[in-house]
Amino acid sequence: MCRSEFYRGMSTHGQTALPSEMDALVVEEAGEWSIETVDTPEIDQTDNVLCKVETVSICGTDPKIFHGDVDGWPPSFPFTPGHEWAGTVVETGDDVSRLSPGDRVFAETHHGCGYCENCRNGKYNLCENYGDFDSGHRQIGHTSSGAYAEYIAAPADTLYHLPESISFTEGALLDVNAIALYLAERGNIGPAANVAVIGTGTVGLLAIQNAKALGAGNVIAIGSEDRNAVGADLGADHTIPYTDDDVVEQVLSLTDGVGVDVTLEAAGTSSSFSQAVTITRKGGTVSLDGIPKNNHQEIPMADLVTEEIEFRGCRAHANRAEASARLVENETVDVSALVTHEFSFDEFETAYETFVERRDGAIKVALHV
Ligand SMILES: [Zn+2]
Ligand SMILES: [Zn+2]
Repeated sequence: MCRSEFYRGMSTHGQTALPSEMDALVVEEAGEWSIETVDTPEIDQTDNVLCKVETVSICGTDPKIFHGDVDGWPPSFPFTPGHEWAGTVVETGDDVSRLSPGDRVFAETHHGCGYCENCRNGKYNLCENYGDFDSGHRQIGHTSSGAYAEYIAAPADTLYHLPESISFTEGALLDVNAIALYLAERGNIGPAANVAVIGTGTVGLLAIQNAKALGAGNVIAIGSEDRNAVGADLGADHTIPYTDDDVVEQVLSLTDGVGVDVTLEAAGTSSSFSQAVTITRKGGTVSLDGIPKNNHQEIPMADLVTEEIEFRGCRAHANRAEASARLVENETVDVSALVTHEFSFDEFETAYETFVERRDGAIKVALHV
């Protein structure tokens, strides 16, 4: 049947003809997915902006969601993941005046309930009603339907205007850049501070740039050799292969024997947490984004206490989306350097394999929908 036969007619704004069905990546059950024809989502009171997805990139969290490795992500199958995206507004709910059809937008994942104490304090990333659909809480692509689809209905407050000078491909990375910015900010980076970044995945590579943006002096990246090379291109002053036996000694020798002022942890491995304590100077700060597989980890606790090292967790970010966009717009942060591969949406399988197998040095893999 021809696609046009599915057209449900003109939208409420009378500007765009919307197909009643669309292509979406559907994970039928843990570990089993394919692109299917599904109903085009409709807006409601919470998911009150319908967007055409233009670009969506694959996140390191996605394989965990695809395989049902994390409790509650998704709440149930079938499920459409995808949360690093940018697109064009197609239709808005009656209460939405900030956005109009045709607007270019980028997105963040967290939408708080809006009324719990944390949401009222602006910490909607720590919403007390996380995962409670009835409360209105959503985390796009995690607890509610995501952007591996032609269209997505999303809460208006998860969407931001995408500056003209920023492409959709870059726009899809503004949320993860906001996460890296938040990680760096929570490190309390002082002027010309020595900063170590453990882990050179997407967040680590962006954290290097955001640390510099916040005034860091020497940035030391600790990661795999190929990613360290990218980190050096993006501004790391020193790089250390994480496989070296003497990572701690190397950091100490680069910092007059005292350790770094700030460690940004973006690896989430067992060794990285204790290493973070050991390489951070007395009175320093460790800001953490990496989530370990096992909840309980061994760290040198006596050192943490007696050296007054501050450990600060980071849950995605709150309110850093627009700052993230400004840093990319004024070319302080280069997100496009991370995009190593681009595919069309129907090549999803190849794109996914390229990402998980890190084929040809894959870092960020973008899908154009
Ligand atoms: Zn993600
Ligand atoms: Zn809340």
